Amino acid sequence: AVRIHGISKSFGTLKVLDNIELNLTAGSVTAIIGPSGSGKSTLLRSINHLERVDSGFISVDGELVGYTQKGEVLYELKEKDILKRRTDIGMVFQSFNLFPHLTVLENLIEAPIQVRGVSREAAVAFAQELLARVGLGDKIDAYPRQLSGGQQQRVAIARALALRPKVLLFDEPTSALDPELVGEVLDVIKELARTGTTLVIVTHEIGFAREVADTVVFMEGGHVIEAGAPAQILNDARHPRTREFLAKVL
Ligand code: ATP
Ligand code: MG
Repeated sequence: AVRIHGISKSFGTLKVLDNIELNLTAGSVTAIIGPSGSGKSTLLRSINHLERVDSGFISVDGELVGYTQKGEVLYELKEKDILKRRTDIGMVFQSFNLFPHLTVLENLIEAPIQVRGVSREAAVAFAQELLARVGLGDKIDAYPRQLSGGQQQRVAIARALALRPKVLLFDEPTSALDPELVGEVLDVIKELARTGTTLVIVTHEIGFAREVADTVVFMEGGHVIEAGAPAQILNDARHPRTREFLAKVL
């Protein structure tokens, strides 16, 4: 489970996250929606400590992210330990971010071998299994530039899974894709949801959120305005700001 407790974050005088409180149960799917600049990406980046928050804390299965606690005081971990902890929290970006000079297989086995100390043999076997799961078993020796955007994003998802994360974060995973490639990536994410991986997805795909999410979170101006079951938030929002936003995007 992921616990996001009272986190706040400012850039200069701009408060981008204001006392965010969210609890995500293991195996749940959370969709985060909201207007541009509302803090969605910053929240996601805070969850795996790519962004350092000003106050509050985040824990995954009871373990603090980025910090260790001594008595009442939190100390930031060393970079090496942050990287190690971060392997529990996978992240998939809008722009795929594959290593362009590595093959698909090498993209998948690099971190498990380097960071997790997995044997090459085991890493390759798991990579093959993951590529089959995302429908790309035949692309194992291809380079990223030889793949379509949808294929690259599916490789990026497989790469994130190769570290066996406890949570997987997606920041608008389909917004850089041509419309006809969106479906294949959403199908892979749907399959992950079905198999009980804890997922947090920032998305503009409201239909997808309705179908796949257990919880929809609406953010605006650095606040969680409301959160609840998709039917409640998307059909019957309490807050007028949520209703205004949905009227624009639906
Ligand atoms: P979008 O839907 O456009 O991706 P978002 O909800 O993901 O928006 P964030 O990227 O989290 O929004 O940004 C929230 C606010 O913080 C914005 O006003 C943005 O300009 C600002 N911001 C984000 N990162 C930085 C940074 N590194 N330095 C300064 N300001 C930043
Ligand atoms: Mg964003």
